[in-house]
Amino acid sequence: MATETSGAKVIDGKLLAEDVVAAVKAATSDLLNTTGTKPGIAVVIVGEDPASQVYVASKGRKARECGFHSVQHTLTEDTSEADLLDLIDSLNNDPAIHGILVQLPLPKHIDEGRVIQTIVPDKDVDGFHYINVGKLGTGAVDSAFVPCTPAGSMIMIERQLGRDLSGLTAVVIGRSNIVGKPMANLLLAANATVTVAHSRTKDLPALARTADILVAAVGRPQMVKGDWIKPGATVIDVGINRIDAPEKGEGKTRLVGDVDYAEAAKVAGAITPVPGGVGPMTIAMLMANTLVAACRAAGVQIPKF
Ligand code: NAD
Repeated sequence: MATETSGAKVIDGKLLAEDVVAAVKAATSDLLNTTGTKPGIAVVIVGEDPASQVYVASKGRKARECGFHSVQHTLTEDTSEADLLDLIDSLNNDPAIHGILVQLPLPKHIDEGRVIQTIVPDKDVDGFHYINVGKLGTGAVDSAFVPCTPAGSMIMIERQLGRDLSGLTAVVIGRSNIVGKPMANLLLAANATVTVAHSRTKDLPALARTADILVAAVGRPQMVKGDWIKPGATVIDVGINRIDAPEKGEGKTRLVGDVDYAEAAKVAGAITPVPGGVGPMTIAMLMANTLVAACRAAGVQIPKF
């Protein structure tokens, strides 16, 4: 039977994120009532980067909205690595803190890898510690902390296609440790057949066209064109790129993804917009990870998102 395509379903990240946050709020209040445990998150920021300050402020606001104990440590740009490691050590040992997040990037004189590996894996709600990376890589997804952006993207895929992706082909464009690689591992754990593409991949458009699930995490504005998309595919656009928008007035800018949305929406079965797609899900998953950390610490059942 021929079906007429009238454009892709838009996967609303704001709405889905509200769903996740509502579930976090409810589980937080249950946890407090039954065990007296209040999830606690510590966000550490070093230096004055304006974008980082905006991200950190919104994480704090969301944590308070969820009913968490939320603390922010703002350190000056010239903070030494030793002082930062001391702070992490004290947060590692603070029973009121279940999740520790160090906002990246850090100033150049600080070794980011060393800082991340100092956070105890049980409080590594960003999912960057080798223990959590290793758990995800070996398919122990339920006991890992999964990085928030791929975790949120995966929920969007599951709501569209179900939890079992057997028989489906996925292509992830981008192989970063924060997005591309964990995304590929999550898709593999859900039984998809996964290819990871990157800057050295040959004939990317042809490869992308094989994908029932296409995830773009590149950082190149509107790189993925409509004719790269398999008709009916689920397209997850992780990219956040600011481009000039002279149509809005002189000097104005706007945010776009890695996918040419207008073109892709004509071909895809479902697609995430930018903004309002993966972005809101990322912060919601940070809240979910922190709640999970608190549930584990209290020895109670972990909610599933
Ligand atoms: P990254 O720079 O670490 O990695 C980019 C990847 O894209 C690399 O693996 C590279 O090989 C690949 N790549 C570069 N050029 C390519 C090309 N021409 N063809 C194919 N592959 C190419 O970036 P990242 O941290 O993974 O982030 C990717 C994008 O996602 C950025 O736009 C970033 O802003 C966005 N992002 C969004 C969120 C969110 O919450 N929505 C979170 C993290 C990152």
